[in-house]
Amino acid sequence: MRVLEGLKPERVFYYFEELTRIPHGSGNTDAISKYCMEVANGLGLEHWRDEFNNVTIIKPATPGYENAPAVIIQGHLDMVNEKTADSDHDFDKDPLKLRVIGDWIWATDTTLGGDDGIAIAYALAILEDNTLEHPRLECLFTTDEEVGMEGAVGYDASRLNGKYLLNMDSEEEGIFLTSCAGGIRYHLQLPIRRIETEGNVVTLTLSGLMGGHSGVEIDKGRGNADILLGYVLNRLAEKYTYGLISVDGGFKDNAIPREASARLMIDVIEFEALSASVAELESALRSDFAGIEEDIVLTLSQPEEKQIGFMHPEDQQKVLFLLMQAPNGVQAMSMNIPGLVETSLNLGILKTTETEVSLAFALRSSVEHRRDALGAKLAGLITYLGGTYDTTGAYPAWEYRRDSRLRELMLDTYRDVYGKEPEIQAIHAGLECGLFGKKISGLDMISFGPDMKDIHTPQECLCISSVQRVWEYVVEVLRRMK
Ligand SMILES: [Zn+2]
Repeated sequence: MRVLEGLKPERVFYYFEELTRIPHGSGNTDAISKYCMEVANGLGLEHWRDEFNNVTIIKPATPGYENAPAVIIQGHLDMVNEKTADSDHDFDKDPLKLRVIGDWIWATDTTLGGDDGIAIAYALAILEDNTLEHPRLECLFTTDEEVGMEGAVGYDASRLNGKYLLNMDSEEEGIFLTSCAGGIRYHLQLPIRRIETEGNVVTLTLSGLMGGHSGVEIDKGRGNADILLGYVLNRLAEKYTYGLISVDGGFKDNAIPREASARLMIDVIEFEALSASVAELESALRSDFAGIEEDIVLTLSQPEEKQIGFMHPEDQQKVLFLLMQAPNGVQAMSMNIPGLVETSLNLGILKTTETEVSLAFALRSSVEHRRDALGAKLAGLITYLGGTYDTTGAYPAWEYRRDSRLRELMLDTYRDVYGKEPEIQAIHAGLECGLFGKKISGLDMISFGPDMKDIHTPQECLCISSVQRVWEYVVEVLRRMK
């Protein structure tokens, strides 16, 4: 018995439910891509898969549409695996447990994978429906979007003819995305020498921050635990002499760190005064962030006698300088699109080993040379201090296109089908569109999708009636592409 039986559009929900039965977290896309290949095979359509498990399925134009430019319908196969703390769900083998409540579909205790399974379900339902009218369709299902867009990065687009691309990886019906940020990761390494001795060690911990996504929430004024820890350490260094042992905070370069800590060797005579200064800094931070961060906690542990290596004073000075001077947060707002962050960066991981302190930053900008200029700033800073750096995960921006026939068609169709004005937006986060724009010259793109809430969390849900409206809308868009 199917949970989604009877919901409309029937075939979209049929395929969607099939997909939820196949585990398909990022990095685990073999089975789901095979499933799509089998569907294509059963439909007698040209299809192929590459070494990244990206799947391409081609459907020829219907009569009368032979001369219309081909359309790429694109979504990603992988989903974010998240579950509630008490869930025993096994993402490697268990099917998701679907539930329908009112107008929404959920998965019990886990993410639903509406992001982006619904795009795949739409595409498969379109491919199998021989009553629709459309140009040549090139359905492209990518992999590992959620972990650096690796499928899209590796995809060979030379076999595609499409001049239009419909990216169905957005979560708000009626909002059309037309631009996204490009990004790159910078990893900075500062070598440190240590002095081995016995002394009193305390741990300074900053916690209780909200954190958030380094693209979407970078303009909310939230505190970055690593940066604030650096600030606190610098302020304490004005009054006290201490030996820095380590600074650590954050696990992902694209998440704003919520907690960070430092270990220091102190003069035990100064402990009381130091504690008082820490308490003062805590209340200063609380008033700095009043109305944004309400739960900032800065604590200092009791001293403990230990044999340990603290940083050479010259190296410690460099670490403190680096944390004080490193740019972080919003660097520029867009002058074209009100409210859009143009360029930003986030120090996401601060880590100390025996021999080095490393910092990982996620940089974003909708203007490529601004992103590169910001990277050069980090590179200059770390090189000047005698450290090294490397970069990974660069993906290009999708810059706003002033003239877009696709956008005009999509918006006109929206007005006719819905009887209201659509919204055009740009986002300060990455989409695969930037990569395809680089691979296929002159590609005209838009990103849209049905309503979803709380993606990437166990509360993720998908709106049934929205899926139906977007289905009717897409079918009409394709019909108008003559
Ligand atoms: Zn997605």
